Amino acid sequence: QTMKIGFIGLGNMGGPMATNLANAGHDVNGFDLVAPCPEKVNKAASAQDAAKDADIVITMLPNGAILKSVAEDILPVMKDGACLLDCSTVDVESARAVSEAAEKRGLLAADAPVSGGITGAAAGTLTFMVGGSEEAYKAALPLLDIMGQKSVHCGDAGAGQAAKICNNMILGVTMIATCEAFAMADKLGLDRQKMFDVVSTSSGYSWTMNAYCPAPGVGPQSPADNDYKPGFAAELMLKDLGLSQQAAESVDADTPMGKMALALYEKFVEDEDGKGMDFSAMLPRFEKRGRE
Ligand code: NAD
Repeated sequence: QTMKIGFIGLGNMGGPMATNLANAGHDVNGFDLVAPCPEKVNKAASAQDAAKDADIVITMLPNGAILKSVAEDILPVMKDGACLLDCSTVDVESARAVSEAAEKRGLLAADAPVSGGITGAAAGTLTFMVGGSEEAYKAALPLLDIMGQKSVHCGDAGAGQAAKICNNMILGVTMIATCEAFAMADKLGLDRQKMFDVVSTSSGYSWTMNAYCPAPGVGPQSPADNDYKPGFAAELMLKDLGLSQQAAESVDADTPMGKMALALYEKFVEDEDGKGMDFSAMLPRFEKRGRE
């Protein structure tokens, strides 16, 4: 049936996600401080205005501090029994705090960060990793099925964010490993295509090698074949590695590789050429350098 949806945060991801919900026949009221309201979405005057009559409010915001301030603003005006579905990537603690505040208010709540990027958002093929009660997951599922092709209910509040940052910590580490190996192979005189042919079918295979190869002209089409235009920007990888280290610290987890990956992406984005580049541009970075 048609649902009334409030959508707060209509940026690169939120805009196309809100459009897909409206195209599926739902009544979507959107609000953003800056980004333009997509054509099919009704423009609300404020976050409260978008949230007040909604069956589900979806947030797609930059970080946990902003999420918490938006939640503080909208929770009091949301309908009893409505659901707050946060699809942003934020720290686990903020996700849990917002869920708890929503449940105290008599609402359902779930954290549901995504993977799939801007193309997945536009195509409606995102993957959602969901943390929250069974009831909240059930309430969100019809909308998740429109915006994405897969969702996994990972556990209670915060479990979606936990899954997301564990995945992206592995992704950051394996991208660095793949890039440093390609750059070393160059210096050893090993042809990149041969390296790909071997590794992609041997025990060094990974998503970064097989599906998103950082070497231009090798493997399937990837941002490397488009001058390393993102794709998945190095800044976003840096953000997710920061969140994973914040989480590791909060639960006393030993994550030496994650920590090193964070330090390297930080250097790459802040002091080198990484800003505005895809995260696979680690390969040209290594190419230029010797041992440090
Ligand atoms: P974005 O910066 O394009 O969009 C965020 C939007 O939030 C902006 O338009 C901003 O104006 C708006 N906003 C900020 N504060 C607000 C407030 N108080 N009220 C209303 N609107 C407010 O970012 P994005 O790429 O759309 O990413 C959104 C979230 O999704 C982030 O948490 C990001 O980490 C995550 N994510 C992004 C990607 C990606 O490839 N872009 C992939 C997976 C996850």
